[in-house]
Amino acid sequence: MLTSSAIHPILENAELRTQVSQFMPSLYHELDRSVQPMQQTCRNCKKCCDFASSGLNLFVTNLELAYFVINVPAVPKIITGRCPYLDENQGCTVREFRPIGCRTYFCAPPKEYSEQTLYENTLSRIKQFIENHRLAYSYTEWLKGLSEAPR
Ligand code: SF4
Ligand code: SF4
Repeated sequence: MLTSSAIHPILENAELRTQVSQFMPSLYHELDRSVQPMQQTCRNCKKCCDFASSGLNLFVTNLELAYFVINVPAVPKIITGRCPYLDENQGCTVREFRPIGCRTYFCAPPKEYSEQTLYENTLSRIKQFIENHRLAYSYTEWLKGLSEAPR
């Protein structure tokens, strides 16, 4: 399924937009609290946002993307292999709205940290919201999703 067709029903429904705008910040807030102890392991070198050099691949659900485009309507130029919201000096310019993968990834976490478990648990709550609202689900590579997302 194309990203746009999985996002349109959310963007076009005012009630759904409101519900997404309540659900996502609460989910992100909880997630950020869970990873707070890991923040000190990050040197803020920004390498993980440069996909070509880090080899990382960021994926997003349509719910993350819908919440993102509701709040960040400006479309920057998509540069292959690098997140367009990365600023060399400031780092991430969309921190408040960044997807789950950006929040859970740490390149040198303590051994007790399971990124996979946290990521999957968070994803299952996204899926539950989508199911409860009888929406279609899509999971897309970040840059592809951004380029296809309706604004
Ligand atoms: S998680 Fe690692 S690669 Fe990413 S900004 Fe922090 S130190 Fe750099
Ligand atoms: S949204 Fe922010 S944290 Fe995520 S890859 Fe882009 S610049 Fe990095």
